[in-house]
Amino acid sequence: MRITFISIVLLMITISLSAIDIEIRGSNQKYSASETQIDGISYVSIQELSPILKCINKQERLDQRLYLHIYGETFIFLEGSSYYSYKIESYNMHFPLIRKAASYYLPTAFLTEDLPLHFGQDAAYRKGTLSIKQPVDHSVQVIVLDPGHGGKDPGAIGKKLKVKEKDVNLDVALKLKALLEKELNVRVLMTRSDDRFVSLGDRTRFANENKADLFISIHANASKNSSPKGAETYYLATAMTSDARAVEALENKVVELYEGGASALSKYDGLDFILSDLSQTEHLQSSNELASSVQQNLIAGCKAYDRGVKQANFYVLKGAFMPSILIELGFLSNAEEERLLINEEYQQRLARTIFEGLKRFKYRYDRIRNT
Ligand SMILES: [Zn+2]
Repeated sequence: MRITFISIVLLMITISLSAIDIEIRGSNQKYSASETQIDGISYVSIQELSPILKCINKQERLDQRLYLHIYGETFIFLEGSSYYSYKIESYNMHFPLIRKAASYYLPTAFLTEDLPLHFGQDAAYRKGTLSIKQPVDHSVQVIVLDPGHGGKDPGAIGKKLKVKEKDVNLDVALKLKALLEKELNVRVLMTRSDDRFVSLGDRTRFANENKADLFISIHANASKNSSPKGAETYYLATAMTSDARAVEALENKVVELYEGGASALSKYDGLDFILSDLSQTEHLQSSNELASSVQQNLIAGCKAYDRGVKQANFYVLKGAFMPSILIELGFLSNAEEERLLINEEYQQRLARTIFEGLKRFKYRYDRIRNT
């Protein structure tokens, strides 16, 4: 027992000595991944490797497995084991996969011997340089967060405390932004970062112009009576229930109220509709999956009443050329939820659970798109 403990401590003592050069074929890109000596063996951290090889990784904390997707192929490693599986065969790297704090380390030999073995012509190691083909990368890199309403448009107003929807939306979006930037390493852009009015059309235009990969609109609900409660997530489609139609009317009302009356509505119909119909049809399935992933995590983590994933024809989702959803965090017309929605801790939990939903979706989506 004691010997094992000491050897683990020794494993932790590492010194960085050298680096392995990685050259991307057909481009001028050259990288240098630093090698770390662990127990006398040369290792490279996955953290450093991932952006170079554009690999997607997922850690299964429960069974200590690490999934690494490189060039659309899947490698499954086990923490502390030198064996990994690839295309239902087992391979031995001779040195184990090691985890230090939150980082995984692969023996350098995996790059110099195993990659050339599996990728043949596409990977070669000569004289200290790994030369590989250009990896494709269609993974999610830019996420646009859209806090609903703002400025002259307060959105829904709470019945008891007169909480303004625009403030709740912004608070949660800002908390979500911080998590995404810190833990998912993506670029996060906001349609508004303060209390200002932005038209619905400008919100999607902003997402399209910035080539966003995902568009997340954040709202809070309201109803005429005080009993309805719970969270729901929407994606754009024409089929809908009467409940969904009511929420759709509420969220679309901003056009009539603040964007120049009923005549302004026409700009969101007609030609725009045909265009948006095309843009979202391509992403219908992904938007549905994104909505499901967010809704599931939101309900499980916030213990909110589950109103489900729904479809509606929101102007703000129209014309977005990427998977897009609209989240209704809860009901400001419900006294208990109104109180929760301005609670700092609950807002943080909402942000955390939406984050988990986005993270899970991203992993699946990146893997499919990079294959
Ligand atoms: Zn709203």
